[in-house]
Amino acid sequence: MDAKTEEPKVRCRKCLIREMDKEKYFANMYEYIAHLDEDIKAPIEVYEKRLAVCKTCDYLEEGMCRACGCFVELRAAVKSNICSYNKW
Ligand code: SF4
Repeated sequence: MDAKTEEPKVRCRKCLIREMDKEKYFANMYEYIAHLDEDIKAPIEVYEKRLAVCKTCDYLEEGMCRACGCFVELRAAVKSNICSYNKW
């Protein structure tokens, strides 16, 4: 593997989104969701119902809730999270 294709060994914990490769950023987010502890993770049916509500909401824009600023897929994945507008 040459230096150009080599994955960084350390994650940049202080990087802003604009400084990161967006594809990798979102892949990392999905990986994070997939590996949430079962204790805090919303059941898949709940998760999908929440996202279905977000899909009909005017606050959803490019995956982000303009009411709370979260990526809705991340917010909906945690059982104890709620929608800022009590839609779920
Ligand atoms: S979290 Fe609530 S306010 Fe935000 S997009 Fe989803 S339904 Fe709308």
